[in-house]
Amino acid sequence: MEKVDVIIVGGGLAGLSCAYELADSGMTVLVLERGDFSGSKNVTGGRIYLRPILPYLPDIWEQAPLERHVTKEVFTAMGKTNSTTFEFYSERFNQEPYPSYTILRAKFDRWFADLVTEKGGFVIPQKTVDDLIRENGKVIGVKSGDEEIGADCVVAADGILSFLTEKAGLRKPFQPQHFALGFKEVIQLDSKTIEDRFRLSENEGAAQLFFGALTRGIMGGGFLYTNKDSLSLGLVVGLHSLNRKEPREEIYKLLDQFKERPEIKILVKGGEVVEYSAHLITEGGINNMPRLYTDGMLVVGDAAGLGLNMLATVRGMEYAIVSGVLAARAIKGAKERNDFSASSLVEYEKLLNDSFILKEMNTFKNTLAVLENERLFTKYPQVICDLFEKVMWVDENPKEGIYKTKMAELKKHFFNIETFKDWLMFRKI
Ligand SMILES: Cc1cc2nc3c(=O)[nH]c(=O)nc-3n(C[C@H](O)[C@H](O)[C@H](O)COP(=O)(O)OP(=O)(O)OC[C@H]3O[C@@H](n4cnc5c(N)ncnc54)[C@H](O)[C@@H]3O)c2cc1C
Repeated sequence: MEKVDVIIVGGGLAGLSCAYELADSGMTVLVLERGDFSGSKNVTGGRIYLRPILPYLPDIWEQAPLERHVTKEVFTAMGKTNSTTFEFYSERFNQEPYPSYTILRAKFDRWFADLVTEKGGFVIPQKTVDDLIRENGKVIGVKSGDEEIGADCVVAADGILSFLTEKAGLRKPFQPQHFALGFKEVIQLDSKTIEDRFRLSENEGAAQLFFGALTRGIMGGGFLYTNKDSLSLGLVVGLHSLNRKEPREEIYKLLDQFKERPEIKILVKGGEVVEYSAHLITEGGINNMPRLYTDGMLVVGDAAGLGLNMLATVRGMEYAIVSGVLAARAIKGAKERNDFSASSLVEYEKLLNDSFILKEMNTFKNTLAVLENERLFTKYPQVICDLFEKVMWVDENPKEGIYKTKMAELKKHFFNIETFKDWLMFRKI
């Protein structure tokens, strides 16, 4: 059997960052990617925060195909026929090194794969791994079709449904409540139009999140990110909540209906859909992660359940990249010790524990329970919008005082035991 030092299964962000960190270490590193090229099967919203990554991977960003740096945060509560938007701008977000960028994975991952190749790694596209090869319980390689390739260490970077972690017996059976489903369109528009519509200067970007009536009572929300000359528009819904919904919703129709809302229609007007994608998102949190290592194998990125819905933002890409780098560091240590057993690879878990990733996963461990509360997606956004509507509405009747209008509504909807319980729950995140 042909043998290399390290096989990385999956050429997404986690696999590629691991390969990049290992590529000049003298080890032979093979990335096996089932897609036509890295980026062809990878989906994100997507916004990436660079500051958490820079200490681990400082040197690749100057040339990276990033889209716009985000200077404007927009949150929109949607009622059935109305909406309320809160917009935040900060000069701090507009200073280099910019904290976050919008990103298109089809471009970014492809570029990153080329970088790995330049540095000495091998990225092999159209290569699906079908199984692990094990000897006395230890992972010693992978099978792809009829081919068998041996390795001292296999890295499972095969994304959210990672069948490698399942084959290795590292994870519990999946539960629908641990996943959300994302739908996304990339809509091409020229950069000047984007800048005018979103009131942005050149290269500046906006990130807009939506919650409320757009998901029709299903746990979830919408997103809109401005790229250089396109918009990424999508919806994310909890699988569990989607399954429970009666009558059933055709999920793709939700996105069409969202686009038909006047608030969105005007933003995407004249644009052409150039990409459509759907993908699962990990929502299980720290309590539902698989075991991260076994004899001869490590698990990184989405495959390791490293992702968070922090309500105000979705995190996954930084976790994928940094977990890849940390896995590479653990592998380098194992190589020095010439020991790829679980007791040597445990180093990876220690590195993850010390990093921001597991600290954040721990801080946000109750997010899932908070998100299960459907009032967040139904009652509250509607009440907020109706309240503003009442305040702003003028007709033939004499207008009531603002305080009186607001207090009556606030008392009716918020001064009750249900909202008090929701508030107590909210304090957990
Ligand atoms: C709709 C949506 C919105 C999101 N928004 C954001 C956001 O705004 N910010 C953020 O940080 N995160 C976001 N995320 C999460 C983020 O995109 C993921 O956490 C991240 O892509 C994980 O990267 P990864 O490399 O671990 O997995 P992936 O990118 O999924 O890569 C896995 C790779 O493995 C390959 N593969 C799988 N099985 C095999 C096999 N058997 N053989 C060979 N190759 C295989 C796949 O083809 C794929 O290329 C979002 C996710 C979705 C779906």
